[in-house]
Amino acid sequence: MLEKVLIANRGEIALRILRACKELGIKTVAVHSKADRELMHVRLADEAVCIGPASSAQSYLNIPALISAAEVTDSSAIHPGYGFLSENANFAEQVERSGFAFIGPRAETIRLMGDKVSAIEAMKKAGVPTVPGSDGPLGDDDAATLATGKRIGYPVIIKAAAGGGGRGMRVVHSEAHLLSSISVTRTEAQAAFGDGTVYMEKFLEKPRHVEVQVLADGQGNAIHLYDRDCSLQRRHQKVLEEAPAPGIDPKARADVLEACRQACLEINYRGAGTFEFLYEDGKFFFIEMNTRVQVEHPVTEMVTGVDIVKEQLRIASGLPLSIRQEDVKLNGHAFECRINAEDSRTFMPSPGKVTLFHAPGGLGVRMDSHLYTGYTVPPHYDSLIGKLITWGADRETALTRMRNALDELLVEGIKTNIDLQKDLVRDSNFRQGGVNIHYLEKKLAN
Ligand code: ADP
Repeated sequence: MLEKVLIANRGEIALRILRACKELGIKTVAVHSKADRELMHVRLADEAVCIGPASSAQSYLNIPALISAAEVTDSSAIHPGYGFLSENANFAEQVERSGFAFIGPRAETIRLMGDKVSAIEAMKKAGVPTVPGSDGPLGDDDAATLATGKRIGYPVIIKAAAGGGGRGMRVVHSEAHLLSSISVTRTEAQAAFGDGTVYMEKFLEKPRHVEVQVLADGQGNAIHLYDRDCSLQRRHQKVLEEAPAPGIDPKARADVLEACRQACLEINYRGAGTFEFLYEDGKFFFIEMNTRVQVEHPVTEMVTGVDIVKEQLRIASGLPLSIRQEDVKLNGHAFECRINAEDSRTFMPSPGKVTLFHAPGGLGVRMDSHLYTGYTVPPHYDSLIGKLITWGADRETALTRMRNALDELLVEGIKTNIDLQKDLVRDSNFRQGGVNIHYLEKKLAN
């Protein structure tokens, strides 16, 4: 087992990783910016190193500072969490070259999946269903591009190969606008990502976002941990997630789960990962793979009993997966509400001092948060301050527990989105299950 892990992240996920390390008897190193001295996991870690000023660019994204911190603390591995450098292939490469284990896939896998065109190509080859599209980047031949548009059928979506975070995409409703839209998207992609490569896909009009969690040890073993529904989104940011996804066609589901497992073997995947799909009319369409642990991983842990972060640490230690596919049993249902320091109506961030924090409890209730009374939420980072997760033997029980837990949760001194979450878990369409990715934005517009 790894001896000492440096946690290259902050907030709730840093605490989550610290807890998993402690359970496995692994020593921990917290790194933090000058604005983050008071973080909960910094207090609890065996060692703490300040790696730079508040700005992420100079701290959590500062590769030399992170590697130096790993060197001076004699760490054996680096866990990147999510966001920041977690999907940066150059970082993964430098970590390994400096003699530390990178807790994630190999750099070449991150690179393969970071380019959406190569990711789609690899998935197609592995038998994962993809969105009908241009099958590769769009070239300079306008006649060929127009023919591709005709073949796919309008509306189509133009996407940047290097895109991320919901940026670098443009929907086109008719042939008349195709060429000009491609040219604008190319220019934007070049400016935003330093890569103007774009491709074309069928635009699905009312899909759900359904994703598949996988674990692979890079030693010939791979499993799936079933699916999650993350359709409730605002500006492509997930707000409320659940596992398993309700009301999915059983045959399509069984096929896609097995296809994801096979794809992991095909690309010799290592670590935890997520295959993201759009699901419409009983069919799955792959859109991208995330090569890291995700914010919403707890809902999967609650329904499978598998500790995803502990598995990541075991895999990085060179151990094989501790579970086989036939041992993974779905049990009950789980929800996760993301709690953000932001105004419930305007969504403006609301940093500041937390004058009171009270976490809910009881059977089937889990709170992953770094908050405590007296903690000051700094203005420099993402507004996620915690995740409230509930489990129940069935969907209705898990949802009832979430309603009650949200009523118990107290965060005072700053504004939060708790009221929005309370509203969502009482929404009649959401309670029925299966709303599509536009549902939340439409509801907020009313
Ligand atoms: P990013 O890496 O920026 O998150 P994705 O490829 O995951 O980009 O797409 C982000 C979101 O854009 C999806 O969750 C979905 O809402 C929308 N989207 C992407 N591709 C399509 C498509 N072919 N049809 C409809 N919506 C899409």
